[in-house]
Amino acid sequence: MPAAPHSQMTIPSDAMRRIGILGVQGAFSEHKAALLKANALLVKPVDLEIVDVRSVDDIRDDIDGLIIPGGESTVISMFLRRNKMEDRLRSWIRNENHVTWGTCAGMILLAERSEHQKDGGQPQVIGGLDIVVDRNFFGRQVHSFEADVKLAEVPDLRQRNKTGVTQETFSGVFIRAPAVVKIMDPAVSVLATLDCPSRQTSDLAVAVRQNNLMATAFHPELTEDPTWHLYFLKTVLNLKVSSKR
Ligand code: GLN
Repeated sequence: MPAAPHSQMTIPSDAMRRIGILGVQGAFSEHKAALLKANALLVKPVDLEIVDVRSVDDIRDDIDGLIIPGGESTVISMFLRRNKMEDRLRSWIRNENHVTWGTCAGMILLAERSEHQKDGGQPQVIGGLDIVVDRNFFGRQVHSFEADVKLAEVPDLRQRNKTGVTQETFSGVFIRAPAVVKIMDPAVSVLATLDCPSRQTSDLAVAVRQNNLMATAFHPELTEDPTWHLYFLKTVLNLKVSSKR
């Protein structure tokens, strides 16, 4: 039997991953570039397909990981509602074969509760993370700032550089950012904290994870440091793939 042409060869399931990026408001190309960069840093890079998620039909079961980027949580939630994507997204996220990462507005949408809503209303949340966020924790006057966050000692997060030094902080870009003001379930672990003297706290939770859901209040796609995209990718790779394809 003649050998199958290369393009028709079956890719082993553990060598291929599909990542979706919710493409409602910007940041698609930044996240994509950061994911490709992180993949290249893996000991064994995978065959990575990055897809735009904009409609119900785009929320496919064979997507392994999903990024919900920043923007404006009310705008994103209105888009999801108008395009009837909420229910499908909720069930996709709750599937244990899938990993979801929300950044900034994405964190707000994944939070089970949020405080300080516009017009007193709650944005239409996707939910899943048992946290309460303050949607504009740093206030209107502090629109944007960059500050070092302290990385938690959890597997795969702190990277070791070429000289063997372990990275303990990450330069977080905060843009009208939320913060976690309450954790409602012990299954939620804090991945990064911020020293915030104006609120008299040195351990403000700004990145969390609960099972396959993770969220950062800051925007790692706007920095050159691949730490968080690497962490997300490794989380996706660590899932069992046996029954998926
Ligand atoms: N605070 C904004 C909101 O309410 C989020 C800002 C961001 O994603 N950069 O949606």
